[in-house]
Amino acid sequence: MYWEKEIETMDRGNLEKLQAARLGETLGRAQKSPHYGKVFKETRLDTDRIWTVADVGMLPLTTKEDLREQWPYGFLACSRDELIRMHSSSGTTGRATVIFHTDGDIAAWTNLLARSMYMTGMRRSDVFQNMMTYGLFTGGLGFHYGAEKIGALVIPAGAGNSKRQIQLMRDFDTTAIHIIPSYALHLSTVFAETGVDPRRDTKLKIAFLGAEPHSEKMRLKIEELYGFKGFNSYGLSEMNGPGVAFECPEQNGMHIWEDNYIVEIIDPVTLKPLPEGEEGELVMTTLLREGMPIIRYRTKDLTRIIPGPCPCGRTHRRIERIKGRTDDMMILKGVNIFPIQIERRLMEIPGVGTNFLIILDREGYNDSMTVKVEIQREFFGGDLHQLEALRRRIVEELRSDILITPRVDLVEPDSLPKSEGKAVRVVDKRKE
Ligand code: AMP
Ligand code: ZN
Repeated sequence: MYWEKEIETMDRGNLEKLQAARLGETLGRAQKSPHYGKVFKETRLDTDRIWTVADVGMLPLTTKEDLREQWPYGFLACSRDELIRMHSSSGTTGRATVIFHTDGDIAAWTNLLARSMYMTGMRRSDVFQNMMTYGLFTGGLGFHYGAEKIGALVIPAGAGNSKRQIQLMRDFDTTAIHIIPSYALHLSTVFAETGVDPRRDTKLKIAFLGAEPHSEKMRLKIEELYGFKGFNSYGLSEMNGPGVAFECPEQNGMHIWEDNYIVEIIDPVTLKPLPEGEEGELVMTTLLREGMPIIRYRTKDLTRIIPGPCPCGRTHRRIERIKGRTDDMMILKGVNIFPIQIERRLMEIPGVGTNFLIILDREGYNDSMTVKVEIQREFFGGDLHQLEALRRRIVEELRSDILITPRVDLVEPDSLPKSEGKAVRVVDKRKE
């Protein structure tokens, strides 16, 4: 059941010793990069004084802005000859950040994905269909090589083209898929249109759901529609991509691979570390990166460490599913709201379909929120009273959660814009 039993179940004391040793090596390498060379000098940091994992707090934080400023090569800790691959973030604002890998980096990353997928039960007898964009985005090639390392048969389907995806699944008896959760919901409507029942007419049993925030309710809905087990997969290109943290068969939080990363949770305002169990911003330090080590990277992702051991026997700590990014937070009439709060409520209401969109606007001096909600086909064209009752119920349920009364528009299935990549949940017209 373990890909690397010794590492995955290593006692915490030894794991921290391993981290400390790897941190020392990382600092030695990082110092060679123009960025850290300069930062260490400016802050008069004596890297020889860093002995334990707890000392990591003495090191400077790294932000996305630092990566942008040093674009493209300012974080390189090796010569360009040693690099074999580049990836980039899918960032929609500003210049995308780029990450470079040596062959050692790719081998370590591939191993983390093999470890993660193996943990969920994927084996060489599986047929794995990777429905993520190949190319600069890390979700394509990252998973691809990890699955090959396990020895599964890999179908590099790429994103989109729903009918073809379904055809591939049926023709080649796909058992495992990697899919963006919002796309999984959309794909279920295409299954319904084509008269194919994923539960009955496919061999699907495992899905890796990742790349965007999604609630437990959404996972349950997807599992129910397809009849497979869905495992949350978290990662970001700056830390390789997928394979950073992954759910085990307990499906209760994601093990974050601490032999490869030092994990901290900080208060995003004071930047002080938070006690275990409290929610804050995830900060990570790479421990095996050769080409481009990154120290104390502010991910902007909000989560917490789940205290206590996991019944699966792995000792690497678990993070809770990501609540959102600090920059996704909507502030409306002084109230902080995350798109996932809205998603979670919507997924609980019978009759709600598979997609929604939040529109923020300003009317006079007041902020307003409209939530457009796709509803299931059988509701449409039906009784108008029933529709109005559903609409009111949605308003009421959202109000009780976000403390603001949104406008709710019910719209036809498939009428809202869809994305092949990460879903766009919010349109903020106040910024236009
Ligand atoms: P990128 O670097 O373009 O791959 O984007 C990484 C970002 O995607 C992360 O920082 C998260 O905000 C988001 N993300 C990735 N996986 C998940 C996940 N399983 N749950 C929530 N958000 C995720
Ligand atoms: Zn576990």
